[in-house]
Amino acid sequence: MDACDVLIVGGGPAGSSCAWGLRDGGLDVAILDRETFPRNKVCGGWITPEVLDDLEIDADEYGKARVLQPITAFRTGSLNGRIVETDFGRPVSYGIRRCEFDHYLIQRAGARILSPASLTTLERAGAGWIANGQIQARVVVGAGGHFCPVARLTGARPPGEDAVVAQEIEFEMTPEQQAGSSIRGDTPELYFCADMKGYGWCFRKRNFLNIGLGRMDSHRLSEHVAAFVRFLKSTGRLFFDVPAAFHGHAYLLQGVSARNVVADRLLFIGDAAGLAYEQSGEGILPAIESGLLAAQTIAAARGQYGRERLERYRTELGRLFGEPQRQWITRVARRIPPRLLNSLAARLLGTHWFTREIVLKRWFLHSAVSG
Ligand SMILES: Cc1cc2nc3c(=O)[nH]c(=O)nc-3n(C[C@H](O)[C@H](O)[C@H](O)COP(=O)(O)OP(=O)(O)OC[C@H]3O[C@@H](n4cnc5c(N)ncnc54)[C@H](O)[C@@H]3O)c2cc1C
Repeated sequence: MDACDVLIVGGGPAGSSCAWGLRDGGLDVAILDRETFPRNKVCGGWITPEVLDDLEIDADEYGKARVLQPITAFRTGSLNGRIVETDFGRPVSYGIRRCEFDHYLIQRAGARILSPASLTTLERAGAGWIANGQIQARVVVGAGGHFCPVARLTGARPPGEDAVVAQEIEFEMTPEQQAGSSIRGDTPELYFCADMKGYGWCFRKRNFLNIGLGRMDSHRLSEHVAAFVRFLKSTGRLFFDVPAAFHGHAYLLQGVSARNVVADRLLFIGDAAGLAYEQSGEGILPAIESGLLAAQTIAAARGQYGRERLERYRTELGRLFGEPQRQWITRVARRIPPRLLNSLAARLLGTHWFTREIVLKRWFLHSAVSG
């Protein structure tokens, strides 16, 4: 039987960050993941600068051998509405490729990597857990993403969750497509659905193009994606067919998720805890920050991993992200009849002030940008 102090199930940004946060603590930390890295993850790959700061990633060093696309502006609007360009004049975000980023994070995490190995069973045994009948751990961290097996096996996932559903494709453009594309790497494009239940994006990262659409409503997602691709073609943004099928995934938003994040000898982080930002759907930063908080909690518990000692994680998570941030605009929007909302949203999204101050600075960049 293998044994470790901390077993992290899932080696995405949440799990790797938790391991990285524990790297000098003298604990035996193992990451179990069903995939062999490098592996891909369905994602736009947009990150805010805090991601690099929190993990002390040197942008120059990272970007030497990997895609790190600085983003200085955004082009936004509602589908079939006016398009507005907002230029911040300096990098306010970056584009990464998840196959590279997640591999980089897990390699520098300083943990033992047990992969590929899927978690299939998790049983309580004495002062800890036994995973897959063969790995003994004193504390387990559920970091397996939206469909985290730890959440499923321990009942931390309530039925009937209201998840964001999304589809995405990322591919390398041919030299002809690169030369002819009007999509600029430093200016991702975001277009909101008329009912404001989601948005589509078209995001160039050097030679790679990432196209996707996410919605709070799972009905007819593929039709929305197809309509978005038609929109990109009709406006000249895409002059060729996408080379393969879109991939789908889901995640929960803060304020919507009812997942339990702490139990006896158990913590949940990242998508397993349902922490993506409500307005933008940004999930990488909350995954990293919750992973680091979990690491601090485990280190401070000094081997006592009972629920009371781990409750500190829930408190710190609440302090970090605040109460579910239902913004006034969301509350107001829920009271407006759909037709009126559609035309109001299209008008607001066509103005420079609303786009810059509310959509970009508040919803997407969480006010990290001044000026
Ligand atoms: C289409 C789409 C676009 C997105 N775009 C963005 C974006 O641009 N920017 C952003 O910030 N966020 C984005 N997100 C959200 C973001 O991808 C997630 O919030 C983020 O990946 C969460 O990280 P995580 O480490 O919690 O989970 P994950 O990245 O999902 O990692 C979970 C890990 O657990 C492993 N695992 C799963 N099951 C098992 C098992 N049974 N046994 C062992 N291991 C297992 C998986 O292999 C995986 O490596 C997007 C999401 C979607 C669906």
